[in-house]
Amino acid sequence: MPERGIRICIIGTEVTNGFIQDTNTKFFAEELYSRGLILKECRVIPDDPEIIFDTWNEYIRSGDLIINSGGLGPTDDDLTVDLISQLLGVEPVYDEEAEKRVKWFFKKRARSGVSLELALRQARIPAMTIGLKNTVGLAPGIWAPRINMIALPGFPVEIKSIWPEALKIIETQDLTRRSTRILPVWAMGESQLFSQIPRSNDVEIGVHALPIGCRLFLRAKNEDGNLTELDRIENEIRLHFTSLISHDPLRDIIEKLLADAKTLSTAESCTGGLIGKLITDIPGSSAWYQGGAITYSNSSKSQLLNVKEETIQRFGAVSHATAAEMAIGALAAFNSDIAVSTTGIAGPDGGSDEKPVGTAFAAIADKNSQKVYTAKLYYPFGRERFRLAVAHSLFLGLFQRFTLFDKNPQDWQTDRFGKNFVWDDFSTFQ
Ligand code: ATP
Ligand code: MG
Repeated sequence: MPERGIRICIIGTEVTNGFIQDTNTKFFAEELYSRGLILKECRVIPDDPEIIFDTWNEYIRSGDLIINSGGLGPTDDDLTVDLISQLLGVEPVYDEEAEKRVKWFFKKRARSGVSLELALRQARIPAMTIGLKNTVGLAPGIWAPRINMIALPGFPVEIKSIWPEALKIIETQDLTRRSTRILPVWAMGESQLFSQIPRSNDVEIGVHALPIGCRLFLRAKNEDGNLTELDRIENEIRLHFTSLISHDPLRDIIEKLLADAKTLSTAESCTGGLIGKLITDIPGSSAWYQGGAITYSNSSKSQLLNVKEETIQRFGAVSHATAAEMAIGALAAFNSDIAVSTTGIAGPDGGSDEKPVGTAFAAIADKNSQKVYTAKLYYPFGRERFRLAVAHSLFLGLFQRFTLFDKNPQDWQTDRFGKNFVWDDFSTFQ
């Protein structure tokens, strides 16, 4: 039996002319994938009636469920309601609830030159369709059962507000479902990973690059059954790569830090504040993040973090020793329980035979055990990827050190996978 899936149609000249980036597809695709639904096609097209009709007609013939975004607003270039009406051979009507909402909004925020009639265009839906409540904007979503189409506005926040209603419709549809699993394996290159994972004729395996490592996605090949095979493959991968599997190492360590009431600080050179940025992207980080220093020059490393000039002279600013002293300095400067540091050569210049561009050292200092761990990293991928990879190596290191190997820090030093870095150098400080 052919699979019944979903086809996405993103409408918006602002997208096809490059003014804005389409993020709606990503939202839909993630939502559908996690539910095991099959996304067959995504198309991004301009607000052009001919192209819209061509796409819809082709999609309708396929028998798949259609999800449409954009073109539900009040202006002339918002065509979706009129085009669906034309396709169904009906007239637009007012959606009762949306009409009330537009009138209420109009009273509260009437602007000169805007007529109620124009505003009310947003409350229209084609006759013989069902309005889906928009709790953020004014235009309701539309469910047109005769053509298997869910039409949503363009604004991402509005789509999210209607999405629960859209999901209810999706649940009632006879759609193919194939179970999926997502397994991020950090610090493993694609080919390295593929040479170590089990295979099965019943499971599709795909891969997507992470800042360091890969996200594996597994999907059963057939609708029914195969679950045992999917579970088997997932379990094998989990058992083999235990210490490298985490959906988000930064989030995982935060949970642990919060549980243990520990605080963190950062001392960054080559990552230029990226680690602090990624940490402060997380709401509530003030509960455990004390702060950080961006010490780019040798003198700032010495003045702000107490790195000994002699250390820099003897081993270089990019070295195990400097990274270690930076982290120890941050512990004191910010009075935190744990501190991390980075120092490296992002390029394009500044490399040498011994320390080529892409070399970095990272350190994790732990006040409680009075130990500092360092790792040598090598990511010759250009400045941006280099910084991301260094930041995530630290998050993975923290995750491993404080959530997995808490009881036996020696575990941390084994390189079971021949991976890119090992926290091999550790010393005690006072
Ligand atoms: P409105 O009532 O605002 O006119 P609409 O349903 O007509 O809503 P559009 O006009 O197509 O939607 O888009 C409104 C805005 O939503 C765009 O200007 C853009 O900022 C955002 N948007 C639209 N489509 C996308 C998309 N595919 N990805 C991300 N943002 C989008
Ligand atoms: Mg619009």
